[in-house]
Amino acid sequence: MTVDNPYRDLPSVDQLAAELEASPLPWPLVVDAVRSALEQSRQDIEEGRQVDPRRKAEDLLRTLERSDATQVINATGVLLHTNLGRAVWSAPAIEHAANVAANYTNVEIDVETGQRTRRGSYVSALLKTLTGAEDALIVNNNAAGLLLALAATSAGKAVPVARGELIEIGGSYRLPDVMEASGSRLVEIGTTNRTRADDYATALQLHRCGSILKVHPSNYRVEGFAEETSVAKLAGLARSGDIPLIYDIGSGLLDADTPWLDIATPAWLRGEPAARQSLAAGADLVTFSGDKLLGGPQAGIIVGTAGAVSILRKHPLARALRVDGVTYAALAATLGAYAARDIGQIPFWRQALMSKKDLAERASEMANRLGGRLEDGQSTIGAGSVPGMTIASPVVVLADEDHLYESLLGAEVPILTRRESGSLVIDLRTVDPVFDQSIMDTIDLCR
Ligand SMILES: *Cc1c(COP(=O)(O)O)cnc(C)c1O
Repeated sequence: MTVDNPYRDLPSVDQLAAELEASPLPWPLVVDAVRSALEQSRQDIEEGRQVDPRRKAEDLLRTLERSDATQVINATGVLLHTNLGRAVWSAPAIEHAANVAANYTNVEIDVETGQRTRRGSYVSALLKTLTGAEDALIVNNNAAGLLLALAATSAGKAVPVARGELIEIGGSYRLPDVMEASGSRLVEIGTTNRTRADDYATALQLHRCGSILKVHPSNYRVEGFAEETSVAKLAGLARSGDIPLIYDIGSGLLDADTPWLDIATPAWLRGEPAARQSLAAGADLVTFSGDKLLGGPQAGIIVGTAGAVSILRKHPLARALRVDGVTYAALAATLGAYAARDIGQIPFWRQALMSKKDLAERASEMANRLGGRLEDGQSTIGAGSVPGMTIASPVVVLADEDHLYESLLGAEVPILTRRESGSLVIDLRTVDPVFDQSIMDTIDLCR
């Protein structure tokens, strides 16, 4: 008489893997998933649960397959969504970058002379003309830019920062942690809502400071009884202490006068710090992201005086944080659109400036077709840019029945929508019009 042994009924790794041969994933990943599924199944047997190793392996493989980078449709109305990759590249940026990726390139060669040169001189030239900077340097992202600026100027020294500017941004960015990693010492000054020039002056007297750091609180706004010290005043203090003023403006607005927009500066952009004006007011180093308002690739852009930038360029971290030719190519094309005053090339600006009328037309067609309502909504800039500011957008509102939100996430090209008090909001401002039809088809299919 044999005792039933459920462990014996489990298939072997080879058997189960062979059953899953049709998976599009590379074979070693299939085998790994099968091993995990069998291990979990043994655990299930031990704990008296239902056992289905094949189903488990299929679930693991599906989750894995869907974690590979893939296109999604952003119907959330958040223009710069950090979890969705922030800015979409312009067509010229994609073309330029693809050409560089596919070939050997002149990343560090002067093709006039055949001599070795510095990376990124073309991008620097564009940044100089667009912001009035004397020099520019590109690193991996804005966090890296700030890390480098602090390490090169202030390692082992103190850096005063206003308490109201000690920011945390989504995606694990905390200013105090970046400062600590740079080897500089944060000296908190002032209060949450008010920091005056005197607070900085006192810090400069009490501590051996390597720089003054000003940070744009890019995802919140201190309102009411608030006071911050102007860039010009801080620059004066920094100069008298013979140290640089570093200003992290965050979002990458090149010029507050927006000469590259054919229209007056939009209301939602007013008050956003800009590189040109910050430099003109006396900041020595201004840092910002490439993939926020600038509308380009992930990058940290540092513009500033020739002296200050050259100190950063010589620091070993500059080598560790440098970017590749593909990023330079995408940046060159993106900045080129500003220089050519052809901002319509850049998806971020196309979306941000899309008229309410055009949006209303698209949204009402979609609402009619899907039996939804057309409502007044608000798009947000996101990614810690222009805090509290929104752009009015007509949106499509549907009943979120039968888990429509989840079904749309599960679509072949996942569609991200906004859930608001039991309804599903589709904001077409962040959707390229070529996808309108496929959104409607997918929703029809899901219902
Ligand atoms: C977004 C932001 C950062 C981080 O920039 P990354 O490019 O994501 O590294 C840092 N500081 C400010 C003020 C920001 O807005």
